[in-house]
Amino acid sequence: MTVQHIGVTEVRSAAIATWDFGLRAVVETGHAITSGASLLDAVERGVNVVELDASVATVGYGGAPNAAGVMEMDAAVMVGADLSVGAVAGLQRCRRPISVARAVHDHCRHSMLVGSGAAEFARQHGFPEEDALSEAARAAYEEWVATQAPGTVHGHDTLGLCALDATGHLVAACSTSGISFKHPGRVGDSPIVGSGLYADNRAGAAAATGDGDHIQRFCLSFLAVELMRAGATAMEACRQAVQRVLDTPGGPPTREVSLVALSPEGDLGAATLLERFEYAVWNASGAEVRCVVAADS
Ligand code: ASP
Repeated sequence: MTVQHIGVTEVRSAAIATWDFGLRAVVETGHAITSGASLLDAVERGVNVVELDASVATVGYGGAPNAAGVMEMDAAVMVGADLSVGAVAGLQRCRRPISVARAVHDHCRHSMLVGSGAAEFARQHGFPEEDALSEAARAAYEEWVATQAPGTVHGHDTLGLCALDATGHLVAACSTSGISFKHPGRVGDSPIVGSGLYADNRAGAAAATGDGDHIQRFCLSFLAVELMRAGATAMEACRQAVQRVLDTPGGPPTREVSLVALSPEGDLGAATLLERFEYAVWNASGAEVRCVVAADS
């Protein structure tokens, strides 16, 4: 477990992110919050750190392409103060999809843009056309083309990040290249408000990761926030939300379901149906990677 103690001045501020690579995102977000950035700026900066890190094989630059070898990325941001959102799906030739989602939030009368419309919006708002396919991702794709077998399970992970500032504002964000070698045009849960993320200052924030083709059937992030609104702690809310997947009539469609959540008081939660799920937290005590095991084990 990695522990980094950083100078924290606000006791209430907190951030939580999916996976161990989320540590860099929560640390950057925390630094930005404590140095006076707006919460939205802080979250964008935190997500950008992971998006621009080519070693993270499922988010932004370095993420996995679709079955045609083309990078298509999904990202979204939600502001808990007014429930405003900005989202992009199937975005090509961009290394910072969360910043394009932020620009949709700030400058577009629509909430979500997809495909060529999202790319055109990005160009109009000053985002350069960039190849998001790293050499390692290209090599992995070529190996997949050469060896693909029907039914093969492909990698996927999302950076989901929830953050709280000292004034009680919550923001949630997601960024992912989705399921590796997915069908062109496939969109997972991550950019879909209520599924991949949700934030409401009055109740809490949540973000999901896992098999988005199934997660979007359960509106898991909205469910977790509503459970907090009804009085559950962030941890209880995550557990009850993933339990909803376990309780699917006929059995759970997948165990690739994990959730993080943050209450308006800075209470942190996480739950998973995987054997083990790592997530990253930052608050007054510092920053660290934590782990939860399957909710029913
Ligand atoms: N939920 C993402 C998707 O299905 C991938 C992941 O978080 O693992 O696109």
